[in-house]
Amino acid sequence: MKSVILKPGREKSVLRKHPWIFSGAVAQVEGKPSAGETVLVTADDRKPLALGSYSPESQIVVRIWTWNPEEVIGLDFFRKKVVTAVRFRESIGMTGPIDACRMIFSESDGLPGLVTDRYGDYLVCQFSSAGADSWKKELVLALSEILPCKGIFERSDLDIRHKEGMSESTGILWGEVPPETIRISEEGRIFEVNLREGHKTGHYLDQRENHSLVQKNASGRTVLDCFSYTGGFAIAALTGQASHVTLVDSSAPALARAAGNTRLNGFSDSVFDTTEADVFRFLRTAKDQNKTYDLIILDPPKFVESKSQLEKGARAYKDINRLAAMLLNPGGILFTFSCSGHMEEALFQKIVADAALDARRDLRILRWLSQSPDHPVSAAFPEGKYLKGLMAAVV
Ligand code: SAH
Repeated sequence: MKSVILKPGREKSVLRKHPWIFSGAVAQVEGKPSAGETVLVTADDRKPLALGSYSPESQIVVRIWTWNPEEVIGLDFFRKKVVTAVRFRESIGMTGPIDACRMIFSESDGLPGLVTDRYGDYLVCQFSSAGADSWKKELVLALSEILPCKGIFERSDLDIRHKEGMSESTGILWGEVPPETIRISEEGRIFEVNLREGHKTGHYLDQRENHSLVQKNASGRTVLDCFSYTGGFAIAALTGQASHVTLVDSSAPALARAAGNTRLNGFSDSVFDTTEADVFRFLRTAKDQNKTYDLIILDPPKFVESKSQLEKGARAYKDINRLAAMLLNPGGILFTFSCSGHMEEALFQKIVADAALDARRDLRILRWLSQSPDHPVSAAFPEGKYLKGLMAAVV
């Protein structure tokens, strides 16, 4: 078999079950493997360590499929992985009445480069690595056998595919094309989701529990939902009897869908308003106008896409958190998030603390928040944790 031979000492992370081999750890590649091809990873002394998929164009040259070099990578292997991922979600009660759930979360489920979300009768897949891409047919077959569904749709419209030397790809992979929108229930809250064009695979499934936490804490409060998208937090706040919710987003179509979702959940137009605006500008204007709120949500897009953007991103996080802290009434609650994988939790907390200092507000952290449990983090792969958040109160 074609092999990737590591430099002396670089087998340590493999032995600790970390699934990535960086190009800097490789001494030699034998046999000219093609993109996505299965390679044997060996230590410097040629001791077999693992099997993985080769990504010649990426910094991460191998993503490990298995630490058992005797295993055969193919349809049966993928069937086993999918079954394990599905059983795990069943065991934590994530299937059944919850009809929108991440079923496969890449490295965390032993399938690097594959994300699969279930929305009712449809599955939506993203293939982000050369390895997952080259086994697309087998992976789709395994999914269709194990997860009964009407159709499997691909949403590999992902920038990261370019790093792997692949172009973006969307369309039907198996069965029926999903309708333009489908209705899902998220812990009783109803959303119309566009699987073909919505963000990610259609809905921010990773925020499910955090939406619910907002619902629990919204009663009687005036709420500002910044970066609202289609209303995940706003509808949770209204369900939790917020007195009024303002949704702010720069995308008019997202706000139109949010307004539709709000009505779908039985709320009248008098309890919410939407503003199409840049959140940075909106917050500044709100401060100039002495507006205040009892609960503010900040759920921005990734401000840090790479390590080199960390400083600029940190400034952006600080800016919105400082303004939000200023706009909160005494006793008000801030829910603030960062979905940037490159932003460490401790640094995020420090940025929020600095923002509160600058705003001259005394902020108490009530909870540390993260992604929903259908996006688990393998203990051997802490990089799987990307969503961080704080629930904090101003005194
Ligand atoms: N809170 C949402 C998800 C937010 S996704 C949920 O729980 O479902 C991030 C959103 O930020 C997107 O809808 C995007 O349109 C919006 N956005 C990005 N940059 C923005 C900016 N500078 N000002 C306002 N909205 C912005």
